[in-house]
Amino acid sequence: MGSQAGSDLPAMKTNPKFIFFSDFDGTITLQDSNDFMTDNIGYGRDKRRQGNLDTLTGKITFRDSFREMMDSIKKPYNECIDYLVSNIKLDPGFKAFFEWSMQHNIPVVVLSSGMEPIIQALLRALVGPDAEKIQVLGNFVRARPGKRIDEEGGWEIEFRNPESGFGHDKSIELRKYSSLPEEIRPTMFYAGDGVSDLSAARETDLLFAKKGHDLITYCVKENVPFTVFEHWGDILDKCKEIVEGRITVKQAAQDGFEAYKAGEAGLAPVGDAGQPTVK
Ligand SMILES: [Mg+2]
Repeated sequence: MGSQAGSDLPAMKTNPKFIFFSDFDGTITLQDSNDFMTDNIGYGRDKRRQGNLDTLTGKITFRDSFREMMDSIKKPYNECIDYLVSNIKLDPGFKAFFEWSMQHNIPVVVLSSGMEPIIQALLRALVGPDAEKIQVLGNFVRARPGKRIDEEGGWEIEFRNPESGFGHDKSIELRKYSSLPEEIRPTMFYAGDGVSDLSAARETDLLFAKKGHDLITYCVKENVPFTVFEHWGDILDKCKEIVEGRITVKQAAQDGFEAYKAGEAGLAPVGDAGQPTVK
């Protein structure tokens, strides 16, 4: 029964006690690759920022705002990949975290609103051959009718969950793990930074939210416990404490909320500042 429950979950193959789920853009990478394309070769930063704000305040779904961003980019898909591989950088602490996670049987699963071919190309370029050990679940890309992906205006995003306002509803995958029988269910971590993570925020045991970014505003508003990180060195330190049994996930989340209240999360507590900030 237990093996059936986990049969479509590659991360369960090694019976891990912990799994680390993560957003990709702006979390594993320093810059958000989709924002980078939209700002530089799409309709520009101002429209993109307005779309982010409208998503946070519920005026538009993440899916529709994101599709508009992607539709504004006409560059052939292969050129988009090359452009991103030459411009996007990895969080400097991620490699050390990833090596530690492999040594401790902690699978890393990327849950992204970006498109899988771009994420895989960036991971290969930034992490090296071990990148193939990271399971990537994102959205897809397809050719527009009568066109090829690698021609001008030839591609469009294809959502994993087109019926969901999130486009990729990250909670669907996370619930496959959280609903496993107690005796095999691993402790679940998640790291994220922004509006694409709203569907994941409530679903794991400990949420790492990036300092100074939208996800923190959302978590406070919605009363979702979290701990703050600035770079993956912070995440590695906290995970070590937990894996070695020096602190519980509950205590870590509580500490995160205290840090936020003390003004250490890079955002003023809601009620003082009013408007959420968007990078
Ligand atoms: Mg992100």
